[in-house]
This record gives sequence, C-alpha cells and structure tokens, in this order.
Amino acid sequence: MTAIVIAVALGAALVQFRVIEMERESGSDRSQEPPDSARARHTPAVQGPLSGFSVAILVGHWSEAGAVQDIGAVCEENGVATHTELQANQGVADIVIPRLEELGARVTRLYELDARLNGLSVNLALSLHADSCIDATGYKAANLPTSLTWEAERDFIACLRHWYEHHTGLAWHAYSITDNMTQYHMHAKVAGRTPSVILEMGFMGGDQEILFERPEVISDGIVDSIRCFLTPTDMPPLPEPSS
Ligand SMILES: [Zn+2]
Repeated sequence: MTAIVIAVALGAALVQFRVIEMERESGSDRSQEPPDSARARHTPAVQGPLSGFSVAILVGHWSEAGAVQDIGAVCEENGVATHTELQANQGVADIVIPRLEELGARVTRLYELDARLNGLSVNLALSLHADSCIDATGYKAANLPTSLTWEAERDFIACLRHWYEHHTGLAWHAYSITDNMTQYHMHAKVAGRTPSVILEMGFMGGDQEILFERPEVISDGIVDSIRCFLTPTDMPPLPEPSS
C-alpha cells in the first residue's frame, strides 16, 4: 500500500511538474500572441492537492435515463413518500463531485448499475447510500473481505472514522453492516487494483435532518475522508475516534 501511495504521489508530482513546465513554455510565447487566444489555448486543467488522482462516485440507486428509476429507501407519511434515498444520495453527490473537481481530482459520476463499473480503474470507487427510514442513527462503510485492495479500503474507512465523524458527529453503526454491503456488486466489478467502498451515510429516520437539510456537512466529511486517503500527509492530526 505504501508503495502504491508513493507511486501515485510521484505520478501526481510528475504531472504537476509537467504542467508547470508547459505553463512556463506557454508563458514565454504569450507576449507574442493576442492575449485572449493564448489564454484559451493554454488554460490548464484545475490544479490542486488532488491533481493526478481519479475518483468514482456512484450515486446509489440512480438509474440511467430511460431505465425504470429505483428510488431506494423511502420515508412515508400516510402512504405518500416524503423523502427518498435517491434524493439524499444525489444531494450529497451534487456537492461532493464539484468540490473534488475543484481540488484537481478527475471525477466520474456513476449510475448504480453503470456499465463503466466493469474493470473501472480509479484511485477510489465510493458508492453513496442512505439507510432505511427507521428511528436509528449512525453511519457505516464496508468493503469486500477478500478484496485485493483490502488494506487500502481499510485505510479509507479509517479516514471516514476520523473525518466523517468529525464533521457529521454521527457514530459508527457497526452492527448494521450487512452482506449487502460487504458483497456489494461494485466491489466485484471494478479493476483488481481499485479500492471499492460503500458508505451508508446515515439513517433516513434518525438522521433525516442532516441527510436532507445539511448535505454540505455530510459532503465535508466525505471530501475530507477522500483527501485523508489520497493525500494523508496534507491532513492535520485529529484525535482517535472514541470506540
Ligand atoms: Zn441504498
């Protein structure tokens, strides 16, 4: 894992170095060209702390246009759905994805049964879900117990336990991790070297307010967990989780 991180970091550093070199080169001829066209041609991709990294965010239950839309778990009042899991998953993804892009990461937004999952090669594949509308609170995440990237996935989950908890205040809900999470379809589809984790962000019953009214707080927890995983040395220390 350390070797992979170093290799990835070196790769990212190399890309940044090349971009800097290209900017230098472009800077030298900018004076001889009309400023507008020069700017248009040399506009670099967003450079930031996650430049050179790729992340896939799977929006739980989201179906391709034309397919029957699955909405996941629901909260109902008098037989009418008031909140759907799909809304929660999309609301968070809508904040997380542009924020990762602003940090320089290359981000792919995936459907639940996206064909691009097969052999997907990214630095992290993360699936966002919310748990059923019961009066419970807490979050949890799971990977495939036999994964080739088990250590990387445990590192990411350790980052969640620091940063997701730090931002959201939600507690780890270990005993509700099911086979549906450990044997989740995405884990088996991605490339062997792609870490794959499913996150249940909270319960739509007990955690409804934070899931639906404060998705930016959930997103802070997810983005910082991803940063902690991809660029651990950039993160300030946090106290160990309580349990
Ligand atoms: Zn779900």
